[in-house]
Amino acid sequence: MSTPIESRPVVVIGGGISGLTAAYRLTRASIPVHLVESADQLGGLGMGGEIGGVEIERFYHCVMPTDEHLLPLLDELGLADAIRWQRTTMGMNVDGRRFPFNSAVDLLRFTPLRLAHRIRFGAVSLLLRRLGRGKDLDNTRTEDWLRSVYGPTVWQRLLKPLFGAKFGDAFGEVPARYLYQRLGRESNVATRGYPEGTYRAIVDRLRTAIESGGGRVLCGVGVQRVTLGDDGATVRLVTGEEIAAQSVVSTVPIPLLASLADEPLRAELPQVRLDYQGVVNAVFLLDQPLDGHYWAPVINCDTDFDGVVEMSALTGTERLGGRSLVYVMHYCGRDSALFAESEQEIARRWTAQLRALYPDRLTAAATVEEVRIFKAPFVEPIPTLGYHERMPAARVGDTNVFLATTAQIYPDVTSWNSSVGLADRVVREVMNNRESAGRRAVANA
Ligand SMILES: Cc1cc2nc3c(=O)[nH]c(=O)nc-3n(C[C@H](O)[C@H](O)[C@H](O)COP(=O)(O)OP(=O)(O)OC[C@H]3O[C@@H](n4cnc5c(N)ncnc54)[C@H](O)[C@@H]3O)c2cc1C
Repeated sequence: MSTPIESRPVVVIGGGISGLTAAYRLTRASIPVHLVESADQLGGLGMGGEIGGVEIERFYHCVMPTDEHLLPLLDELGLADAIRWQRTTMGMNVDGRRFPFNSAVDLLRFTPLRLAHRIRFGAVSLLLRRLGRGKDLDNTRTEDWLRSVYGPTVWQRLLKPLFGAKFGDAFGEVPARYLYQRLGRESNVATRGYPEGTYRAIVDRLRTAIESGGGRVLCGVGVQRVTLGDDGATVRLVTGEEIAAQSVVSTVPIPLLASLADEPLRAELPQVRLDYQGVVNAVFLLDQPLDGHYWAPVINCDTDFDGVVEMSALTGTERLGGRSLVYVMHYCGRDSALFAESEQEIARRWTAQLRALYPDRLTAAATVEEVRIFKAPFVEPIPTLGYHERMPAARVGDTNVFLATTAQIYPDVTSWNSSVGLADRVVREVMNNRESAGRRAVANA
């Protein structure tokens, strides 16, 4: 006799925020869940690290007041009050010079652009949301749209390096809708939030809720194989354990899932061609603050990195013992020379570059207490024209395998917020599918 549907678990692959949210929602609905994470910690790209004895995120993370999916989840978990909100500002490092970039006066003083271009930049930026309304931005190249509204100089000198940092040379080809959406999430002067107890507080609370709801959480145990069956799938773990799942929710990048899938599942996976940018990111613990801007793009300054995030401008320095926490980053392919370079070499070169960029702050006497390098191979899926139409659906064909991955976030910006929203949608489909399967089983009994 086969196992009844209601006792067959859902296996969630990946313990980042998508997998944690999916597993949490399923346990809340009294559905048995196994959450499987290959790393030795949960949290995915928001995973914790350590520098100078202080707990940090490996990659800079913040919460936005517009996080319409994440904030209600935090509320549900009793963590709404754990977010500390702070007004943050933006700087701009261009040609080795540093500018504040927060007000009309700052823009007027922004000499890397000629006055006429500054005025055009300011006027168009104010109108940009309206200029994009009703346009087919999904099928318009970012370069074409921005060149047409800002002119070629502002595009080349400012916008391409500013917004293109995440996508490299592919940025001009990305649909303009991505940028249009991003402008809805970010502004120069912005209130940002950071959880007390770091992002681990959120991860730990989700884990506790899953386990106390009867879910099983496995860490440091990767999924090795997913094999389709007639009414579900078998998930084999690296330990050799096999789980007969009613359904599977995969949150790992689609190319990774393809490498885990058996032939019939691989054939069903969305055939969308999608490249991913990875990231190389350095974290510095300094005995000096920099300029106090949360975010400062770096353009044409003889650095390998394209941006500086002064995290302690958001979190305060108390938990850092008065020290400053700074992230710098370069998004690049996982097959690039930088990605392959040793952490020591990157740390050495980027420390020198950061000192050269802030010579008045990081004087010879200033101490760079520690530098940590973290890399991630799959960070930003690079959408191409018309991607919205081709974006993978939640369900893989007629199988019981579901996807909740960053490749399905577009046109939203990849973030914890958008992953929570996606996981919520996918879990609703999983539950509908499970109910239908249950009804069919009863009818056939
Ligand atoms: C530099 C940087 C800055 C960012 N800044 C912000 C920010 O300020 N605010 C914000 O909200 N978001 C930010 N993000 C984006 C955010 O981190 C991601 O969008 C989000 O974490 C994606 O979550 P996920 O669960 O979909 O994927 P991931 O976090 O990638 O999780 C996937 C998980 O699957 C696991 N896995 C892989 N293979 C297997 C296997 N075979 N078996 C089991 N498990 C497996 C991985 O180890 C990983 O834990 C940032 C990201 C980066 C890199």
